[in-house]
Amino acid sequence: MLDALQRPLGSLRISVTDRCNLRCRYCMPEDDYVWLPRTSILTFEEIARLSSVFASQGVRKVRLTGGEPLLRHDLPTLVGMLARDARIEDLSLTTNGLLLAKQAAVLRAAGLMRVTVSLDTLRPERMLAFAKSPRHADVLAGIAAARAAGFGSLKLNTVVIRGFNDDELADLIEFARARDAEVRFIEYMDVGGATRWSMDQVVSQRDMLETLGRRYGRIEPVAGDPHAPAERFRLADGATFGIIASTTAPFCRTCDRSRVTADGTWFLCLYAERGVDLRDPLRRGASDAELAALIRETWLGRADRGAEQRLALADRGALYRIDSLRADPHREMHTRGG
Ligand code: SAM
Repeated sequence: MLDALQRPLGSLRISVTDRCNLRCRYCMPEDDYVWLPRTSILTFEEIARLSSVFASQGVRKVRLTGGEPLLRHDLPTLVGMLARDARIEDLSLTTNGLLLAKQAAVLRAAGLMRVTVSLDTLRPERMLAFAKSPRHADVLAGIAAARAAGFGSLKLNTVVIRGFNDDELADLIEFARARDAEVRFIEYMDVGGATRWSMDQVVSQRDMLETLGRRYGRIEPVAGDPHAPAERFRLADGATFGIIASTTAPFCRTCDRSRVTADGTWFLCLYAERGVDLRDPLRRGASDAELAALIRETWLGRADRGAEQRLALADRGALYRIDSLRADPHREMHTRGG
């Protein structure tokens, strides 16, 4: 099923909670937030039902996210429910790793295939300053546990911010290499909670490649999945890494992703102003066929290319101010799942 720009419905990110145990400056810089009402949060049965209807319409990849997904009580049970659907070829999780050490083996046993851990810095004092957490060691323990649990692939996500961690690119590549993992550098995006965003803090893909080229010499692109957000590269010594250049070189033309928030609102683009309420029909007793028809009609009309439109702006600043995020928490990155 192709949208208005010929993009398939392929990949679904499901946020299981809007709560998080970090306060990263680029995502959730405030101490307090307006949370989604508890009664609106989808149950595991509702999430599995939606996932199944999406799978009937072509979704083959599901990623669990948040907020921090490991804060959702009993997540392995949900993983087990989703993993039973043979149409889901790729079931993965994005986590900040704080609670991963305890859960990695259970998640793997429940059928989770891949894990991505966010790791912005190798320096605990930087994490304390930037994410208001002293628990850097827990993240490292989570990464080690994920490696030991035998996931198909282990990725590390690093949001690169000028003046914060842009001097750690090579260290992070080496850290990942030593753990048989792959780091993906993400350009700082002007989304939801990034209320302090400015272009001068963005380290572009081109800047990153230049810096790494000075250190490592020749860097070659690696061909791969045309719908994947990261462009992959290989160093002359064989190490690989990825860059997600959503800010300076958006991949809207091949974007096959959409996102369901923890309260069942479906967003067709990370930058979309509004989402489609799937919870209401779900709770009113809509049949699978009715839900599928709603998904199909919506996807066929999808023409979103939010990151490209942001790129075209002459005077680009943060997408939202804090008061408009408070007015509608669906605008938050931690609600949409990143
Ligand atoms: N809590 C989990 C985690 O930390 O990975 C999952 C949710 S988090 C919102 C998903 C991803 O979005 C993380 O890798 C995070 O670094 C990224 N992210 C959040 N705000 C961002 C921003 N302003 N620019 C780029 N990436 C961002």
